[in-house]
Amino acid sequence: MMLEQEHVTLDDLEVGELAVEYDDREPEDVIEWALDRFGVERFAIITSFQADGVVLMDMAHQINPNVRIITVDTARMPQEYYEIIDTFRERYGMKIEVLFPEASSVENMVAKHGVNLFYQSVPNRLLCCQVRKVLPLNRALKGLDAWATGLRRDQWATRANIKKIDLDHDHGGIVKLSPLADWTEEDVWNYIRQYDVPVHPLYAKGFTSISCAPCTRPVPEGAHPRSGRWWWEENAPKECGMHCSIETGGFEHEVDAILGHQNGANGNGH
Ligand code: SF4
Repeated sequence: MMLEQEHVTLDDLEVGELAVEYDDREPEDVIEWALDRFGVERFAIITSFQADGVVLMDMAHQINPNVRIITVDTARMPQEYYEIIDTFRERYGMKIEVLFPEASSVENMVAKHGVNLFYQSVPNRLLCCQVRKVLPLNRALKGLDAWATGLRRDQWATRANIKKIDLDHDHGGIVKLSPLADWTEEDVWNYIRQYDVPVHPLYAKGFTSISCAPCTRPVPEGAHPRSGRWWWEENAPKECGMHCSIETGGFEHEVDAILGHQNGANGNGH
């Protein structure tokens, strides 16, 4: 039986110092630091192939073509998501690890609430995000010491204070990198144009923030880029729980019921 490898963890003091040291450094410096520190097996970029993610992938590939790329296929993704995965495989020769939600959890959830439960209520939407996105992500993070995402401070209020190097206390205290934290959307698109990086085809159709097909739509010019996410909800966080714990008291018990066989796992921590 293979034993799960112990995490290499850094302490708050060291990570605090690194966050200060790297705050005005280039994204490539942050990625390079992580690859040096954790090695290619224990570090990964986790992406849904949005613009920020493809920038990170291009940068990381230039530093080390063996960098791990992980994506979560919720089984509700638009066809264009599969096209961009293939485009990256072909152009960069990358091995992309595609994770899926656990079939029995999805089956239990759908049996109880229907296939389109997310339109019924915010707790049901969060439940779906938990089962289809957060739990597969948690599974991936158990095997890593550090992960990188394309989060930026200007995307949403909940992201205003993100650091380029931080501890991810929601995921066992591993290191979470946001190398593009201080970039603007314009910086991202300038990089894409400069290096001719392939982009998700839905950007050409007016989408500005892209996730599952039933929960994302194009937005009018000038609208907030994340306003096309879960557009039918009012006063709910435009987050799915992958990047911050969402504890409303309204869906966690449902997650436990659906995962009955996994006793009390609610996906918010390890
Ligand atoms: Fe479910 Fe929508 Fe969340 Fe995708 S974005 S996991 S379909 S609620």
